[in-house]
Amino acid sequence: MVLLDLAKSFLANVPPDAAVADFTMGNGHDTAFLCGLVPQGRVYAFDIQPQALENTRLLLAEKGYANATLILDGHEHAKQHIHEPIAAGMFNLGYRPGSDHSVHTHPETTVKAVVDAVELLQKGGVLVICIYPGDEEGVREGEALEAVLSRYSRKRFSVMCHRMINAPKAPYILTAEKY
Ligand code: SAH
Repeated sequence: MVLLDLAKSFLANVPPDAAVADFTMGNGHDTAFLCGLVPQGRVYAFDIQPQALENTRLLLAEKGYANATLILDGHEHAKQHIHEPIAAGMFNLGYRPGSDHSVHTHPETTVKAVVDAVELLQKGGVLVICIYPGDEEGVREGEALEAVLSRYSRKRFSVMCHRMINAPKAPYILTAEKY
């Protein structure tokens, strides 16, 4: 199964009027997917590249979606922008396809963003994190997230790793669901 389809499958039960977040807007494909998932809800989307917001704005206009709030700020500051519980959050780490590869996510800020996103989750809410271990930074990012998320209480969270064990460098997914 294509990784992105697997990632989206974890969000099948999100209510159509929920608030959700795309923590790594990139070119806006996940933002657009989330807009369709919550037609009566709100999508908060973050990126630090103005070009990402521009590309996303165009994509959403083309698809006729008007329920997203595009935020030019790091996802590590998400709590300054989201003041309601979220039913879902997506992280698609690494760099924006077609852009300068030097602007990519970093383990320290990613961990802060994920910890804050877990706090923003409502009961039954889920975070989906796509990790790209093809380079050293991606490997470190995955390891840092696994170290933090594995400490969450089993009584309140279900944290899973979905990984191709016959392709260790292939992208993989961490999910955290709040009970
Ligand atoms: N690797 C994915 C795409 C990832 S896009 C793929 O192959 O499809 C990741 C996005 O995260 C980029 O657009 C980048 O600008 C953004 N980003 C990097 N650091 C960020 C931060 N601190 N907060 C929010 N977005 C960030």
